[in-house]
Amino acid sequence: MEYSQVQGPKYDCLLFDLDDTLYPLSTGLATSVLKNIQDYMVEKLGIEESKIPDLCNLLYKNYGTTMAGLRAIGYDFDYDEYHSFVHGRLPYENLKPDPVLRSLLASLPIRKVIFTNADKVHAIKALNRLGLEDCFEGIICFETLNPIHKSTASDDEDDAEFLGSTRSSSAPNGSSGIFDIIGHFAQPDADASGLPKTPIVCKPSESAIEMALGIANINTPHRTLFFEDSVRNIQSGKRVGLDTVLVGKSQRVKGADYALESIHNLREAIPELWEADKITNVSYSGSGVTVETSVTA
Ligand SMILES: [Mg+2]
Repeated sequence: MEYSQVQGPKYDCLLFDLDDTLYPLSTGLATSVLKNIQDYMVEKLGIEESKIPDLCNLLYKNYGTTMAGLRAIGYDFDYDEYHSFVHGRLPYENLKPDPVLRSLLASLPIRKVIFTNADKVHAIKALNRLGLEDCFEGIICFETLNPIHKSTASDDEDDAEFLGSTRSSSAPNGSSGIFDIIGHFAQPDADASGLPKTPIVCKPSESAIEMALGIANINTPHRTLFFEDSVRNIQSGKRVGLDTVLVGKSQRVKGADYALESIHNLREAIPELWEADKITNVSYSGSGVTVETSVTA
């Protein structure tokens, strides 16, 4: 058993998703985000209302976010405008300061980093509302993973160079220049292999997670604990070697090392996070080398 040999702190870093992970679904933000995305598609992109539910499902499923999917199938729009439309009208007043979570985080002397697909304005606003703005070493957000911020078609050359072959198969289907993803999946033997690629980097893609780890300077994924409400993000995280905590569910799923009904259950569910702290304080050599001494003996 690994318990027989205490080797200092088990984790070097805690990586947290933000939305629906650091606050519960009951705030209603997620519902509101979905509604705003659908309104954006109708009002700004002129998509037929009857197609919206199917389209949203397919894009979310195949591209990680609806936004990434919209770009992939040929819609062009300004990322900032999209984000401010989708996040600008959220019921932020439902996010209340969370002193319980704040003190839990403060009691853990381990690096803490936010990793969200959302934009920076939203991440900062939400963290401020929760009273957690100074609890994290950094925020990895949409702009971090998608630093080339221009989104007009003429700038795609830059995007392609940065991300590598992003426009290969985005050949338009039909006169609109928009790939008909609903029609694609209506074919009897359709699969995802023929889909156009997206220029947007986001979870759950493994390369997005690896990129985030690089930016956060995390070289030991197995010593990093990744907190997420999304099962598929958990599973991607597991594939890149992270230890994982599914938040918002009491039952673990494949790929999840832990499950927490609420982030508030952290201490009960993963007490070793705090035990490691004691060991660190006593025996950490400061050399960065794993400390072999067991102080509990
Ligand atoms: Mg989330």
